[in-house]
Amino acid sequence: MPVSTPYTRFQKTLEEVMQKLKLTPKERAFFAKPQNTYKTEIHIKRDSGKEQAFQAFRIQFNNARGPFKGGIRYHPEANEEEVKALAALMSIKTAVVNIPFGGGKGGVQCNPKELSRKELEAVSRAYVRAMIRHIGADIDCPAPDVNTNPAIMAWMRDEFEKQTHTYSPAMITGKPLSYGGSLGRDTATARGAFFILQEMMDREARDPEELKVAIQGFGNAGATMAHFLHNAGYTVVAVSDSQGGVYSPEGVDPVRIEKYKHKTGQVAGEYCKGSVCDIKRMKLDGVRHVTNEQLLELPCDILIPAALDNVITAKNARKIRAKYILEIANGPTSPEADTILEKKGVKIVPDVLANAGGVTVSYFEWVQGRSGELWTAERVDNELRRIMLDAYKSVQREAHRGNMTYRQAAFAVGIRRMVDAMHARGWL
Ligand code: GLU
Repeated sequence: MPVSTPYTRFQKTLEEVMQKLKLTPKERAFFAKPQNTYKTEIHIKRDSGKEQAFQAFRIQFNNARGPFKGGIRYHPEANEEEVKALAALMSIKTAVVNIPFGGGKGGVQCNPKELSRKELEAVSRAYVRAMIRHIGADIDCPAPDVNTNPAIMAWMRDEFEKQTHTYSPAMITGKPLSYGGSLGRDTATARGAFFILQEMMDREARDPEELKVAIQGFGNAGATMAHFLHNAGYTVVAVSDSQGGVYSPEGVDPVRIEKYKHKTGQVAGEYCKGSVCDIKRMKLDGVRHVTNEQLLELPCDILIPAALDNVITAKNARKIRAKYILEIANGPTSPEADTILEKKGVKIVPDVLANAGGVTVSYFEWVQGRSGELWTAERVDNELRRIMLDAYKSVQREAHRGNMTYRQAAFAVGIRRMVDAMHARGWL
């Protein structure tokens, strides 16, 4: 069997959909590889005085529809294959929500949890210096991704403006509100996913009060989603972070969990210190400690993977009990799992649709940066809802018409829009 990498997993759906759309060899060629791949080593001085090098990537997949757009992740396992797949997914994603961007992604192979604030700043500034000729508001506009945040975006913008002697608020998105950010960007990914879920449940006449949700990942998107769902009457039965999580059939309280995560650094921190948990207290409160793998197989109606990729695979797909999967993480489901889940009748809202709220509000931030306008929170929320629901409708229509899964339909919508732009530009 060929090795499975994030990129081969992306290509599997791509190939199925290109066949369905009957793309010509010339059109296909544009999806075979990224337009540009930049990789280099960046060097920083550690607090100890020692110099350290890190691998850094920026991969620009396609810019037929506008400047390359996509986050930068800091992760010990960030590598070219992964960043390439994520850049490709971004190209489809921006096309699915029909915003005027292409797709790109960046990464630094480092463990941010082992870096001090000063070292993190040094890495972020070094990254911008290394990529300076390839980024900018009209060229390629980065943003946060796994383990990167508004503070990092601010250092990056500052470094870019210093190096280029310009005022460039639109060169990067996901910035802090105090330095060119947009209202609603921090909650955008979860907000967008929430709008789609609500619409879907409405259409299927499902009442939130009777729906149980398990969420893997308690970072920005996962934690915000837990709050939205809890406040809308859903029962959040389980949440987890990289160290595991908690499960209660009666529901857990996201506010309380957030508090303990803040205090102890882990979701299960109210009951556990590292891997040692106070079983007696857990029993008393009716909660159980679960690993990340166990969380995916819990009895629930809606499963939300909101952490890393490739967590739902051929190994565990048969054991998944949810009827709906909302992919807030990028690439959480392997193609083999997709097939198994489809046969079981599980409905999957794919990443390129479910988590597109983040890049959509990034677009609003970019527009504000270029025009000098400041949008109200209400305007951001209304526009986001409109764009997400339009995208959802397009995907649904396509799925119905072409007898496709939602993932295939989302790819079809995105690929068609990209091909149309390439034709319009005379590339084909
Ligand atoms: N990293 C996010 C994503 O995967 C946001 C990208 C952006 O805002 O450009 O969609």
